[in-house]
Amino acid sequence: DAKKEILKIVVVGHVDHGKSTVIGRLLYDTKALPEGTVEKVKRISKETGKPFEYAYLLDAFEEEQRQGITIDITQIQFHTQKRNYVIIDAPGHREFLKNMISGAANAEAALLIICANEGIQEQSKRHGYILSLLGIQKIYVIVNKMDLIDYSEIKFNQIKKDMDKFLNNLNVFPLKYIPVSAFNGENITKPSDKMKWYKGKPLLDALDLFEKDNALEDKPLRFPIQDVYKFDSRRIVAGRIESGKLKVGDEILISPEGKCTKIKSIEGWNVKKPLKEAVAGESVGITLEDEFFNKRGEIISHRENAPSASDFLKVNVFWLGKNPLVKNKKYKIKLVTQEVEGEIHSIDKVIDATTLKAIENVGEVKTNDVAEVTLKLKEKVVFDSFSSNPNTGRFVIVDGYDVCGGGIISRAKTEEKYNT
Ligand code: GDP
Repeated sequence: DAKKEILKIVVVGHVDHGKSTVIGRLLYDTKALPEGTVEKVKRISKETGKPFEYAYLLDAFEEEQRQGITIDITQIQFHTQKRNYVIIDAPGHREFLKNMISGAANAEAALLIICANEGIQEQSKRHGYILSLLGIQKIYVIVNKMDLIDYSEIKFNQIKKDMDKFLNNLNVFPLKYIPVSAFNGENITKPSDKMKWYKGKPLLDALDLFEKDNALEDKPLRFPIQDVYKFDSRRIVAGRIESGKLKVGDEILISPEGKCTKIKSIEGWNVKKPLKEAVAGESVGITLEDEFFNKRGEIISHRENAPSASDFLKVNVFWLGKNPLVKNKKYKIKLVTQEVEGEIHSIDKVIDATTLKAIENVGEVKTNDVAEVTLKLKEKVVFDSFSSNPNTGRFVIVDGYDVCGGGIISRAKTEEKYNT
């Protein structure tokens, strides 16, 4: 159903704790799989003598998708009566973190899967930490493989207590802890007879309780310029509205130069009449009362609610590059449509994502490390702090031609600080 509301969720957790099985189960139980997939997978399992795995359904699903149109992010979909769910990226994919950091995959909610038997592992903590940095607040912790601990309420409560202790420290407060056995289908789509002590909803019903917020539309206007086209005698400023809304007649400010003018018209793609208003998520072209020499990278906001601009930023980075992130080297920073050259001014703290202990005096950020660094850029970039606006508060770092990391901006550093 194309008209239904869409909620994007990401599924994370330690390897083998059951991410694929949970997803496979959800696809199976909501009949989201292409016809014949289940039979095919069952047949192959039988032929190869391997026991049937729900996780294989996910592989089969992805295979079908690959044969169709090319998509850069694996998107798996299923639906309930209430809405369509898109599972962003598949667990274990190399691109996962990159997509999350770059915003290519804008997850609104997360399921953090923990195996009841093994309990909290290094990766469970790391993923919890990443969710906290990404600012995903709608989180359910799914305690899977309850069958392996005899569906014990006591053991479930212990895991819940331990995980809460860790996550609350990061200012992450999971909305629910749900005990399931994905393999046996317990508490996935219907309440489990084996866990009568659990009073909450089964997983699928609980998903519908995630509240969708349209917060982006309510945030201040951020319209990064992608391109300026000359059309007849007009100049059309085109881009995607990252947040807020704009309408004809609005007084606007173009950062970082601080030019002010008014919106003369809004031209949508494929519309017959000019539009009166456009909102976050839409790609539009606008014309302005005064035709300055506008260019890609500038950001349009309302006059009274402008973003910040600085060439000196305090940021959190996730580093995925093969080579470490180091000082005295030039990197390219991409923030919405802006591209600026920059260097690491200082590596302030490297954080071990498992213990969350800071490692002091480290000269480099290695692959998979998370760090607090200060960036010195060649020119000012226009931005918001990540907590106030995720789309203009994050960036990716390019080393040569490769996206090697990403980060979120905590704040601009003051000039005085820079000089010390
Ligand atoms: P992933 O690496 O997190 O995606 O984990 P998988 O979904 O591939 O699951 C790893 C293994 O755990 C597979 O052999 C599954 O069959 C098994 N598994 C998953 N869920 C359950 C469960 O609820 N109970 C039991 N006993 N095994 C499970």
